[in-house]
Amino acid sequence: MECPGCHQKIGVFSKTTNKFGKKACPGCGKALKFKVDLKKYTLIALPLIFIAQFVLAGIIKALAVGIVAGLAAWLSMKVIEA
Ligand SMILES: [Zn+2]
Repeated sequence: MECPGCHQKIGVFSKTTNKFGKKACPGCGKALKFKVDLKKYTLIALPLIFIAQFVLAGIIKALAVGIVAGLAAWLSMKVIEA
């Protein structure tokens, strides 16, 4: 991800991303918001859920699909100006 103001790289695992409350760019201090990029989300989540449907069964499958859906949302976040 990149700050829309100064193009500073902001990692999904960075402190900025995982901080609760108001988030700001570590480069320029601009207030930022994180949004799920639906296109990216579909690209990540759909194949994984599809695979889980075939490989797994029962409660494990339901759990795996839930985890994948959450993980995909997190991985497909994008940064916008708040
Ligand atoms: Zn910035």
